[in-house]
Amino acid sequence: MKILVQKYGGTSVGSIERIENIAKRIIRHKKKGDNLVVVVSAMSGETNRLIALAHEITDCPDPLHYDMLFSAGEQVSVALLAIALLKKGIKARAFLGYQVHIITDKTYKKARIKLIEKEKITKELHQGTIVIVAGCQGVDEDGNITTLGRGGSDTTAIALAAALKADACEIYTDVDGVYTADPRIVPAAKKIHKLTFDEMLEMASLGAKVLQIRSCELAKKYRVPLSVRSSFNNVTGTFLVDEVKKMEERVISAVCVDKDQARFTLSGLPFEPDMMEKVFGPLTERTIVIDMIVQNPPVNNTINLSFTVSQADYKETKKVLESLKTYYKTIHISDEQKIAKVSIVGVGMVSQSGVAYTMFHILGTHDIPIKMISTSEIKISCIIDRAQAEVAANALHAGFQLG
Ligand code: ASP
Ligand code: MG
Repeated sequence: MKILVQKYGGTSVGSIERIENIAKRIIRHKKKGDNLVVVVSAMSGETNRLIALAHEITDCPDPLHYDMLFSAGEQVSVALLAIALLKKGIKARAFLGYQVHIITDKTYKKARIKLIEKEKITKELHQGTIVIVAGCQGVDEDGNITTLGRGGSDTTAIALAAALKADACEIYTDVDGVYTADPRIVPAAKKIHKLTFDEMLEMASLGAKVLQIRSCELAKKYRVPLSVRSSFNNVTGTFLVDEVKKMEERVISAVCVDKDQARFTLSGLPFEPDMMEKVFGPLTERTIVIDMIVQNPPVNNTINLSFTVSQADYKETKKVLESLKTYYKTIHISDEQKIAKVSIVGVGMVSQSGVAYTMFHILGTHDIPIKMISTSEIKISCIIDRAQAEVAANALHAGFQLG
Protein backbone atom coordinates (compact mmCIF):
# COMPACT_ATOMS: atom_id res chain seq x y z
CA MET A 1 0.00 0.00 0.00
CA LYS A 2 1.53 3.31 -1.09
CA ILE A 3 1.18 5.95 1.61
CA LEU A 4 1.67 9.68 1.20
CA VAL A 5 1.75 12.00 4.22
CA GLN A 6 1.09 15.66 3.49
CA LYS A 7 1.29 18.53 5.95
CA TYR A 8 -0.36 21.89 5.35
CA GLY A 9 0.80 24.85 7.42
CA GLY A 10 -1.27 27.68 8.82
CA THR A 11 -1.20 29.96 5.77
CA SER A 12 -2.29 27.08 3.53
CA VAL A 13 -5.48 26.73 5.60
CA GLY A 14 -5.75 30.40 6.54
CA SER A 15 -9.24 30.92 5.15
CA ILE A 16 -12.23 28.88 3.93
CA GLU A 17 -11.21 29.64 0.36
CA ARG A 18 -7.73 28.27 0.99
CA ILE A 19 -9.10 25.20 2.75
CA GLU A 20 -11.25 24.53 -0.31
CA ASN A 21 -8.19 24.88 -2.56
CA ILE A 22 -6.25 22.44 -0.38
CA ALA A 23 -9.19 20.04 -0.60
CA LYS A 24 -8.91 20.17 -4.41
CA ARG A 25 -5.17 19.49 -4.26
CA ILE A 26 -5.74 16.56 -1.91
CA ILE A 27 -8.39 15.11 -4.22
CA ARG A 28 -5.96 15.29 -7.17
CA HIS A 29 -3.45 13.21 -5.20
CA LYS A 30 -6.13 10.78 -4.08
CA LYS A 31 -7.20 10.25 -7.69
CA LYS A 32 -3.62 9.20 -8.49
CA GLY A 33 -4.23 6.28 -6.17
CA ASP A 34 -2.20 7.37 -3.15
CA ASN A 35 -3.36 6.58 0.36
CA LEU A 36 -3.37 9.93 2.02
CA VAL A 37 -2.71 11.04 5.57
CA VAL A 38 -3.05 14.81 5.86
CA VAL A 39 -1.71 16.75 8.83
CA VAL A 40 -2.96 20.29 9.30
CA SER A 41 -1.86 23.25 11.44
CA ALA A 42 -4.18 25.80 12.95
CA MET A 43 -5.43 28.57 10.63
CA SER A 44 -2.72 31.24 10.43
CA GLY A 45 -2.68 33.55 13.42
CA GLU A 46 -5.04 31.34 15.40
CA THR A 47 -2.47 29.75 17.72
CA ASN A 48 -1.06 33.21 18.50
CA ARG A 49 -4.57 34.47 19.22
CA LEU A 50 -5.28 31.63 21.64
CA ILE A 51 -1.98 32.03 23.47
CA ALA A 52 -2.53 35.79 23.74
CA LEU A 53 -5.89 35.14 25.42
CA ALA A 54 -4.19 33.15 28.18
CA HIS A 55 -1.51 35.80 28.52
CA GLU A 56 -4.20 38.40 29.13
CA ILE A 57 -4.79 36.51 32.36
CA THR A 58 -1.24 35.64 33.36
CA ASP A 59 2.38 35.62 32.13
CA CYS A 60 2.73 31.96 33.06
CA PRO A 61 -0.46 30.00 32.32
CA ASP A 62 -0.35 26.51 33.81
CA PRO A 63 1.04 24.12 31.19
CA LEU A 64 -1.78 21.56 31.24
CA HIS A 65 -4.46 24.09 30.34
CA TYR A 66 -2.11 25.96 28.05
CA ASP A 67 -1.89 22.81 25.92
CA MET A 68 -5.64 22.28 26.08
CA LEU A 69 -6.09 25.82 24.78
CA PHE A 70 -3.30 25.65 22.16
CA SER A 71 -4.62 22.41 20.66
CA ALA A 72 -8.02 23.99 19.93
CA GLY A 73 -6.66 25.75 16.82
CA GLU A 74 -5.93 22.48 15.03
CA GLN A 75 -9.29 21.05 16.08
CA VAL A 76 -10.96 23.77 14.01
CA SER A 77 -8.83 23.40 10.88
CA VAL A 78 -8.98 19.58 10.64
CA ALA A 79 -12.75 19.64 11.06
CA LEU A 80 -13.14 22.30 8.35
CA LEU A 81 -10.94 20.37 5.92
CA ALA A 82 -12.95 17.18 6.53
CA ILE A 83 -16.19 19.10 5.96
CA ALA A 84 -14.79 20.49 2.69
CA LEU A 85 -13.72 17.05 1.43
CA LEU A 86 -16.99 15.36 2.44
CA LYS A 87 -18.98 18.04 0.67
CA LYS A 88 -17.10 17.20 -2.51
CA GLY A 89 -18.16 13.58 -2.05
CA ILE A 90 -14.74 12.35 -0.91
CA LYS A 91 -14.41 9.88 1.96
CA ALA A 92 -12.47 11.70 4.65
CA ARG A 93 -12.29 11.66 8.41
CA ALA A 94 -10.57 14.09 10.77
CA PHE A 95 -8.95 12.94 14.01
CA LEU A 96 -7.48 14.72 16.99
CA GLY A 97 -4.12 13.50 18.32
CA TYR A 98 -5.61 11.39 21.10
CA GLN A 99 -8.04 9.67 18.72
CA VAL A 100 -5.23 8.22 16.63
CA HIS A 101 -3.17 7.41 19.72
CA ILE A 102 -0.28 9.80 19.35
CA ILE A 103 1.15 9.07 22.78
CA THR A 104 3.59 11.61 24.25
CA ASP A 105 5.44 12.20 27.48
CA LYS A 106 4.13 14.73 29.98
CA THR A 107 6.36 17.67 29.07
CA TYR A 108 3.46 19.99 28.34
CA LYS A 109 4.20 22.74 25.79
CA LYS A 110 7.12 20.72 24.34
CA ALA A 111 5.96 17.12 24.58
CA ARG A 112 7.84 14.35 22.81
CA ILE A 113 6.08 11.61 20.91
CA LYS A 114 6.75 8.25 22.53
CA LEU A 115 4.66 6.05 20.29
CA ILE A 116 2.02 6.12 17.59
CA GLU A 117 -0.41 3.22 17.52
CA LYS A 118 -0.96 3.28 13.81
CA GLU A 119 -3.65 0.57 13.54
CA LYS A 120 -6.55 2.99 13.55
CA ILE A 121 -5.05 5.02 10.71
CA THR A 122 -4.16 2.01 8.56
CA LYS A 123 -7.66 0.60 9.02
CA GLU A 124 -9.17 3.85 7.72
CA LEU A 125 -6.70 3.96 4.82
CA HIS A 126 -7.62 0.40 3.84
CA GLN A 127 -11.21 1.57 3.56
CA GLY A 128 -10.13 4.28 1.14
CA THR A 129 -10.64 7.11 3.60
CA ILE A 130 -8.43 10.20 3.58
CA VAL A 131 -7.17 10.47 7.14
CA ILE A 132 -6.78 14.02 8.45
CA VAL A 133 -4.79 14.39 11.65
CA ALA A 134 -4.56 17.47 13.87
CA GLY A 135 -0.96 18.66 13.95
CA CYS A 136 1.15 19.41 16.97
CA GLN A 137 -0.85 17.44 19.53
CA GLY A 138 -0.90 14.16 21.36
CA VAL A 139 -2.04 12.65 24.60
CA ASP A 140 -0.12 11.58 27.68
CA GLU A 141 -0.67 8.27 29.42
CA ASP A 142 -3.25 9.84 31.74
CA GLY A 143 -5.36 11.05 28.84
CA ASN A 144 -4.36 14.72 29.02
CA ILE A 145 -3.89 16.65 25.78
CA THR A 146 -0.27 17.63 25.14
CA THR A 147 1.29 19.80 22.43
CA LEU A 148 4.64 19.47 20.69
CA GLY A 149 5.79 23.11 20.80
CA ARG A 150 5.54 25.91 18.25
CA GLY A 151 5.71 24.59 14.72
CA GLY A 152 5.04 21.06 15.98
CA SER A 153 2.76 20.05 13.12
CA ASP A 154 5.88 19.30 11.08
CA THR A 155 6.86 16.82 13.75
CA THR A 156 3.42 15.21 13.71
CA ALA A 157 3.67 14.73 9.94
CA ILE A 158 7.18 13.32 9.97
CA ALA A 159 6.46 11.07 12.97
CA LEU A 160 3.39 9.71 11.19
CA ALA A 161 5.39 9.19 8.00
CA ALA A 162 8.03 7.29 9.99
CA ALA A 163 5.46 5.19 11.89
CA LEU A 164 3.49 4.35 8.74
CA LYS A 165 6.69 3.85 6.68
CA ALA A 166 5.22 6.29 4.19
CA ASP A 167 6.58 6.44 0.66
CA ALA A 168 6.79 10.21 0.84
CA CYS A 169 6.20 13.05 3.26
CA GLU A 170 5.42 16.43 1.72
CA ILE A 171 5.49 19.56 3.83
CA TYR A 172 3.39 22.27 2.18
CA THR A 173 4.07 25.82 3.21
CA ASP A 174 3.91 29.34 1.79
CA VAL A 175 7.38 29.21 0.21
CA ASP A 176 8.31 26.78 -2.53
CA GLY A 177 11.20 25.16 -0.72
CA VAL A 178 14.24 25.81 1.43
CA TYR A 179 16.32 28.80 0.33
CA THR A 180 20.02 29.66 0.60
CA ALA A 181 18.87 32.41 3.01
CA ASP A 182 15.59 33.94 4.07
CA PRO A 183 14.53 35.80 0.89
CA ARG A 184 12.92 38.52 3.01
CA ILE A 185 16.36 39.31 4.41
CA VAL A 186 18.55 38.35 1.46
CA PRO A 187 16.80 39.18 -1.85
CA ALA A 188 19.47 37.26 -3.82
CA ALA A 189 18.57 33.97 -2.06
CA LYS A 190 18.01 30.93 -4.30
CA LYS A 191 16.02 27.78 -3.79
CA ILE A 192 18.07 24.74 -2.80
CA HIS A 193 17.06 21.61 -4.73
CA LYS A 194 18.72 19.04 -2.52
CA LEU A 195 19.77 19.41 1.06
CA THR A 196 21.13 16.82 3.48
CA PHE A 197 19.25 15.97 6.67
CA ASP A 198 22.25 17.24 8.65
CA GLU A 199 22.18 20.61 6.92
CA MET A 200 18.43 20.94 7.38
CA LEU A 201 18.78 20.08 11.06
CA GLU A 202 21.50 22.69 11.54
CA MET A 203 19.48 25.26 9.59
CA ALA A 204 16.36 24.64 11.66
CA SER A 205 18.31 25.09 14.88
CA LEU A 206 19.95 28.23 13.48
CA GLY A 207 16.72 30.06 12.92
CA ALA A 208 15.51 28.92 9.49
CA LYS A 209 11.82 28.66 10.28
CA VAL A 210 10.91 26.24 7.50
CA LEU A 211 10.74 23.12 9.67
CA GLN A 212 10.56 22.55 13.41
CA ILE A 213 13.95 21.36 14.72
CA ARG A 214 12.47 18.27 16.28
CA SER A 215 10.90 17.23 12.99
CA CYS A 216 14.33 17.39 11.30
CA GLU A 217 15.79 15.13 13.99
CA LEU A 218 13.04 12.60 13.36
CA ALA A 219 13.36 12.84 9.59
CA LYS A 220 17.08 12.20 9.87
CA LYS A 221 16.72 9.35 12.37
CA TYR A 222 14.07 7.51 10.37
CA ARG A 223 15.26 8.64 6.91
CA VAL A 224 11.81 9.89 6.01
CA PRO A 225 11.59 10.67 2.26
CA LEU A 226 10.86 14.33 2.73
CA SER A 227 10.24 17.36 0.58
CA VAL A 228 9.27 20.95 1.30
CA ARG A 229 7.06 22.71 -1.25
CA SER A 230 4.47 25.39 -1.73
CA SER A 231 0.73 24.81 -1.46
CA PHE A 232 0.12 27.79 -3.76
CA ASN A 233 1.81 26.41 -6.90
CA ASN A 234 3.10 23.17 -8.42
CA VAL A 235 6.78 24.06 -8.41
CA THR A 236 9.13 21.23 -7.32
CA GLY A 237 10.36 21.95 -3.85
CA THR A 238 13.44 21.02 -1.86
CA PHE A 239 14.24 17.34 -1.33
CA LEU A 240 15.97 16.08 1.77
CA VAL A 241 18.61 13.43 1.14
CA ASP A 242 21.18 11.46 3.11
CA GLU A 243 24.24 12.77 1.36
CA VAL A 244 25.08 14.94 -1.58
CA LYS A 245 28.47 13.57 -2.57
CA LYS A 246 28.98 15.23 -5.90
CA MET A 247 26.58 18.00 -5.15
CA GLU A 248 27.95 20.96 -7.04
CA GLU A 249 30.98 20.75 -4.75
CA ARG A 250 29.60 23.60 -2.74
CA VAL A 251 31.24 24.48 0.54
CA ILE A 252 28.41 26.48 2.03
CA SER A 253 24.75 25.70 1.41
CA ALA A 254 23.01 28.47 3.30
CA VAL A 255 23.22 31.53 5.51
CA CYS A 256 20.89 31.66 8.52
CA VAL A 257 19.89 34.54 10.72
CA ASP A 258 18.32 34.17 14.14
CA LYS A 259 17.20 37.39 15.78
CA ASP A 260 15.41 35.53 18.54
CA GLN A 261 18.44 35.58 20.83
CA ALA A 262 19.39 36.99 24.19
CA ARG A 263 22.71 36.79 25.98
CA PHE A 264 23.36 36.58 29.71
CA THR A 265 26.70 37.15 31.39
CA LEU A 266 27.50 36.11 34.94
CA SER A 267 30.63 37.74 36.33
CA GLY A 268 32.48 36.89 39.47
CA LEU A 269 31.25 33.31 39.54
CA PRO A 270 33.42 31.26 41.97
CA PHE A 271 35.60 28.78 40.04
CA GLU A 272 34.38 25.57 41.65
CA PRO A 273 33.71 22.07 40.30
CA ASP A 274 29.94 22.35 40.64
CA MET A 275 29.47 25.94 39.36
CA MET A 276 28.16 24.88 35.94
CA GLU A 277 25.78 22.41 37.50
CA LYS A 278 24.50 25.12 39.87
CA VAL A 279 23.89 27.55 37.00
CA PHE A 280 22.52 25.23 34.34
CA GLY A 281 20.66 22.77 36.59
CA PRO A 282 17.74 25.09 37.41
CA LEU A 283 17.56 26.28 33.79
CA THR A 284 17.36 22.70 32.56
CA GLU A 285 14.62 21.92 35.06
CA ARG A 286 12.55 24.58 33.33
CA THR A 287 13.41 23.10 29.90
CA ILE A 288 15.18 26.31 28.87
CA VAL A 289 17.45 25.52 25.93
CA ILE A 290 20.95 26.98 26.21
CA ASP A 291 22.77 27.69 23.01
CA MET A 292 26.28 29.13 22.94
CA ILE A 293 28.40 29.08 26.10
CA VAL A 294 31.65 30.96 26.58
CA GLN A 295 33.73 30.85 29.76
CA ASN A 296 36.82 32.96 30.51
CA PRO A 297 39.87 31.51 32.33
CA PRO A 298 39.71 32.12 36.10
CA VAL A 299 41.08 35.36 37.52
CA ASN A 300 41.30 35.54 41.34
CA ASN A 301 39.49 32.22 41.33
CA THR A 302 36.36 33.63 39.69
CA ILE A 303 35.20 33.36 36.11
CA ASN A 304 32.90 35.17 33.71
CA LEU A 305 30.36 33.02 31.94
CA SER A 306 28.22 34.08 28.96
CA PHE A 307 25.53 32.09 27.27
CA THR A 308 22.62 32.63 24.93
CA VAL A 309 18.98 31.57 25.11
CA SER A 310 16.04 32.28 22.85
CA GLN A 311 14.21 35.55 23.41
CA ALA A 312 11.12 33.58 24.41
CA ASP A 313 13.01 32.20 27.42
CA TYR A 314 14.52 35.57 28.37
CA LYS A 315 12.20 36.46 31.27
CA GLU A 316 12.29 33.03 32.83
CA THR A 317 16.07 32.76 32.48
CA LYS A 318 16.49 36.12 34.17
CA LYS A 319 14.30 35.01 37.06
CA VAL A 320 16.25 31.77 37.51
CA LEU A 321 19.61 33.54 37.41
CA GLU A 322 18.50 36.13 39.98
CA SER A 323 17.69 33.25 42.33
CA LEU A 324 21.33 32.09 42.11
CA LYS A 325 22.23 35.11 44.22
CA THR A 326 20.94 33.28 47.29
CA TYR A 327 24.17 31.24 47.34
CA TYR A 328 26.44 33.23 45.02
CA LYS A 329 26.11 36.50 46.88
CA THR A 330 28.76 38.40 44.90
CA ILE A 331 27.93 37.52 41.31
CA HIS A 332 26.91 40.17 38.85
CA ILE A 333 24.34 39.39 36.17
CA SER A 334 23.99 41.36 32.95
CA ASP A 335 22.15 40.70 29.75
CA GLU A 336 21.89 41.90 26.21
CA GLN A 337 18.79 41.47 24.09
CA LYS A 338 19.60 43.28 20.86
CA ILE A 339 21.76 40.56 19.40
CA ALA A 340 21.45 38.18 16.47
CA LYS A 341 23.15 34.99 15.42
CA VAL A 342 24.35 34.73 11.83
CA SER A 343 25.52 31.34 10.66
CA ILE A 344 26.85 29.63 7.60
CA VAL A 345 25.93 25.98 7.05
CA GLY A 346 27.27 23.39 4.66
CA VAL A 347 28.42 19.78 4.66
CA GLY A 348 31.15 20.90 2.26
CA MET A 349 33.06 22.74 4.99
CA VAL A 350 34.09 19.45 6.63
CA SER A 351 36.85 18.99 4.06
CA GLN A 352 37.77 22.65 3.48
CA SER A 353 40.09 24.90 5.39
CA GLY A 354 39.79 28.64 5.74
CA VAL A 355 35.97 28.76 5.84
CA ALA A 356 35.88 30.37 9.29
CA TYR A 357 38.59 32.81 8.26
CA THR A 358 36.56 33.83 5.19
CA MET A 359 33.49 34.40 7.34
CA PHE A 360 35.41 36.56 9.84
CA HIS A 361 37.04 38.45 6.98
CA ILE A 362 33.67 39.22 5.36
CA LEU A 363 32.20 40.42 8.67
CA GLY A 364 35.35 42.43 9.39
CA THR A 365 35.32 44.24 6.06
CA HIS A 366 31.72 45.25 6.78
CA ASP A 367 32.64 46.66 10.20
CA ILE A 368 30.70 44.04 12.09
CA PRO A 369 32.27 43.08 15.43
CA ILE A 370 31.84 39.44 16.50
CA LYS A 371 30.69 38.96 20.10
CA MET A 372 30.67 35.17 20.34
CA ILE A 373 31.54 32.28 18.03
CA SER A 374 30.52 28.65 17.96
CA THR A 375 31.21 25.94 15.43
CA SER A 376 30.23 22.41 14.57
CA GLU A 377 31.50 20.21 11.75
CA ILE A 378 29.08 21.78 9.31
CA LYS A 379 28.32 25.26 10.65
CA ILE A 380 29.91 28.41 12.00
CA SER A 381 27.83 30.88 14.00
CA CYS A 382 28.66 34.38 15.17
CA ILE A 383 26.74 36.55 17.57
CA ILE A 384 26.61 40.16 16.37
CA ASP A 385 24.52 43.29 16.96
CA ARG A 386 20.93 42.74 15.86
CA ALA A 387 20.98 45.99 13.89
CA GLN A 388 23.74 44.56 11.68
CA ALA A 389 22.05 41.21 10.98
CA GLU A 390 20.72 42.10 7.51
CA VAL A 391 24.01 43.55 6.32
CA ALA A 392 25.90 40.53 7.65
CA ALA A 393 23.58 38.00 6.01
CA ASN A 394 23.71 39.71 2.62
CA ALA A 395 27.48 40.10 2.81
CA LEU A 396 28.00 36.42 3.70
CA HIS A 397 25.56 35.27 1.04
CA ALA A 398 27.43 37.27 -1.60
CA GLY A 399 30.88 36.48 -0.20
CA PHE A 400 30.27 32.73 -0.34
CA GLN A 401 28.71 33.10 -3.79
CA LEU A 402 25.35 31.63 -2.93
CA GLY A 403 23.37 33.96 -5.19
N1 ASP B 1 -0.30 25.82 15.13
C1 ASP B 1 0.92 25.54 15.81
C2 ASP B 1 1.82 26.76 15.85
O1 ASP B 1 1.44 27.80 15.38
C3 ASP B 1 1.62 24.34 15.29
C4 ASP B 1 2.12 24.45 13.90
O2 ASP B 1 1.66 25.30 13.15
O3 ASP B 1 2.97 23.68 13.51
O4 ASP B 1 2.89 26.71 16.36
MG1 MG C 1 5.79 25.87 10.63
